[in-house]
Amino acid sequence: MDKKIVRRFEEIVGPEDLDTSPEGAITHAYDATRLQHRPELILYPRSTEEVSQILTLCSRHAIPVCPRGAGSGFAGGSVPIRGGVALVMTRMNTILQIHTEDLLAVVQPGVVNGAFQERVEELGLFYPPDPGSMAFSTLGGNVATGAGGLRSLKYGTTRDYVLGLEAVLADGRVIRTGVRTLKSVVGYDLTRLLIGSEGTLAVITEMTLKLIPKPLMQRAALVTFRTPADAARTVSRIIASRIIPSTLEFMDSACMAAVDEHLHLGLAARDQACLLIEVDGSPEETEREIEKVEALCRTCGAEQTLVAQNRKEREGLWQARRTISQAINRMGLQKVNEDIAVPRSRIPEILEFLSRLAETRNLRILTFGHAGDGNLHVNILVPPENISKAHDAVKELFQEVLRLDGTLSAEHGIGLAKSPYLTMEVAPGSLELMRQIKKIFDPEGILNPGKIFAETP
Ligand SMILES: Cc1cc2nc3c(=O)[nH]c(=O)nc-3n(C[C@H](O)[C@H](O)[C@H](O)COP(=O)(O)OP(=O)(O)OC[C@H]3O[C@@H](n4cnc5c(N)ncnc54)[C@H](O)[C@@H]3O)c2cc1C
Repeated sequence: MDKKIVRRFEEIVGPEDLDTSPEGAITHAYDATRLQHRPELILYPRSTEEVSQILTLCSRHAIPVCPRGAGSGFAGGSVPIRGGVALVMTRMNTILQIHTEDLLAVVQPGVVNGAFQERVEELGLFYPPDPGSMAFSTLGGNVATGAGGLRSLKYGTTRDYVLGLEAVLADGRVIRTGVRTLKSVVGYDLTRLLIGSEGTLAVITEMTLKLIPKPLMQRAALVTFRTPADAARTVSRIIASRIIPSTLEFMDSACMAAVDEHLHLGLAARDQACLLIEVDGSPEETEREIEKVEALCRTCGAEQTLVAQNRKEREGLWQARRTISQAINRMGLQKVNEDIAVPRSRIPEILEFLSRLAETRNLRILTFGHAGDGNLHVNILVPPENISKAHDAVKELFQEVLRLDGTLSAEHGIGLAKSPYLTMEVAPGSLELMRQIKKIFDPEGILNPGKIFAETP
């Protein structure tokens, strides 16, 4: 990058918030995928004004800008594939306001989800979106990916908790979208358009988030089943009984084994699947529901049911779920991680398909995820030299998912990793409209180029 331009960036953010070192470039080349490309320059803005000046300069000199939170994405969204600037938002990390009467908070994008949750819970409030990465992912990254989480079944995803945004457009203009009220139908919903736009339309610099009262109690159970079909049937039976657990997570036998190796929980070797189920609400409601869930599991063929009797036991059950990604990574093979969703009623069909796919293609496939939402994380593990075998299987998987009226990505987004498959789901008319929207927001194509659309529009 031209030295004069680097100097100008330094004037904007100051020397301590600019990094041109090779080490910085390496550490900002990745996200949680294995995709990588180094940025030329890393900037850590501390205010909206700085973001605006950075983007004005980038658009004047056609410099690509890749917004970045914690870099924990599973789609390559924050990999600066065209070089340029990695715009790291983690130093804009202030909770600006928590309004306990209006039940909302105003935050900067670099606030870490878990830290925010702790803060609002101290006040008896609750911010439900809880991606598995909540300990390190940023709220800005969560909004930009439309992140889901383990409590989405009952409480919805990030999308359902964003009331308004401040964002900077590619040419440096600052816009405000949305409201501080729960309802509003004034013009097009630009807030929703920006949620899940993966840094391709604007850089989010402030968010107004909805809060709700904290549930008084939670009860969790880990239930094992002889077959995945029994577990899938149980999911449908629980929902049909009009109980909406806050969490209803599925793990297949391979995930159970991987977790057991790590945690030694003694998940029975003969069982082929398990569910982590949590209900919450008032103490009476919670006790009633956990009893009903236990009984339903028994009638659906549950083998072992571990109901946590106290906070420590509950934490233990949750640890099993939280450890899966780590446990899979420790297996040392290359992982192709998909994030499909199907209508809940079709989970048995997709699980059956996955076991056929593993068998016919001779692949190791581990499946876990938010079964209550129909959202499964399918992990295909291969030695690096067989990666094309995994990609072929992914195509077949996506065809089946779409046949079952599902979607290719329920929460991780398209980014770079899924962009070759976008047109499998999005019809030409809608795709053209999306490209036109991108062009209006970012005529020069400097904002996160190469993402979502397979080639720059
Ligand atoms: C162990 C593990 C568990 C996970 N579990 C879940 C889960 O349960 N649910 C889920 O949805 N995801 C999950 N993820 C994926 C990931 O954590 C989420 O996508 C998260 O929202 C990314 O946040 P981040 O701060 O790391 O963003 P990054 O990865 O840095 O960026 C993600 C995308 O957002 C854009 N972006 C970031 N900040 C901004 C901003 N301020 N303005 C505009 N664009 C921006 C980037 O350009 C990129 O396209 C998991 C990841 C890991 C490693």
